[in-house]
Amino acid sequence: MTQNYSTCRGCGANVLWLKTTAGKWMICNRPLISFEPGGGPETFVQPDGKVVRGRRKENGSAAGYIAHWATCPQRKDFKKEKTDAGKTRNAV
Ligand SMILES: [Zn+2]
Repeated sequence: MTQNYSTCRGCGANVLWLKTTAGKWMICNRPLISFEPGGGPETFVQPDGKVVRGRRKENGSAAGYIAHWATCPQRKDFKKEKTDAGKTRNAV
């Protein structure tokens, strides 16, 4: 398991770099959050690098970190896409 603490260059939040099982680095929020896996609105990275979708739940059956790009106020900087003025719809 590889973990690296850092700060977000966009918003200055304390974040954690986690290497996923796919070998990709993801910036995640601290601390660890309890959640219920099995589909949901949020993406969690578990400490072992597994990326799981789920929803936050106290005493859920799993724990993971929320991907920081999902909550970062500067997240627009994470995507280098052309932004169409006025269009904010996200296809998920
Ligand atoms: Zn940030």
